[in-house]
Amino acid sequence: MNYLKIESSSLSNGLGWRVVLWVSGCSHYCPNCQNPETWDHKAGKKFTDKEKQLIVELLKPDYIKGLTLSGGDPLFETNRESIYMLVKEIKELYPEKDIWLYTGYDFDQIKDLQLMKYIDVLIDGKFIEERRDITLAFRGSANQKIIDVKQSLKNDEIIELEM
Ligand code: SF4
Repeated sequence: MNYLKIESSSLSNGLGWRVVLWVSGCSHYCPNCQNPETWDHKAGKKFTDKEKQLIVELLKPDYIKGLTLSGGDPLFETNRESIYMLVKEIKELYPEKDIWLYTGYDFDQIKDLQLMKYIDVLIDGKFIEERRDITLAFRGSANQKIIDVKQSLKNDEIIELEM
């Protein structure tokens, strides 16, 4: 897996101060995507153990609420194994911190992936220009949902996060 950027603290990619990893690779090709430079899965640099250790360090402070995975699409086919290993390790080290993941897939398409048990919040769906709404928190278009993954898996229906 390649990545483009690691942000040490951001308030605009989920609730609270968050570490954000921007990965390369996306096959959704949404018209007017804000980050088309992330589509090529070979863009950026290789995500190695060094970057993983950096994320582990950045997550340490108490004021950091959790980790956000964005892109690109963290669930692009060739990213899935690396993301699985990363979220598993982060959850084991920091069970109290939450993990948010942005994907262009709809929840029903990826809910059965093994890695989903480590994800707390999923923002799902492609960016749809006709449904663009700048008043929405943490997402670009009204079709995208902010999903409470644990509750949704438990109840076998999509339950949106109460904010
Ligand atoms: S899923 Fe996200 S990164 Fe991929 S094309 Fe759509 S808006 Fe861009």
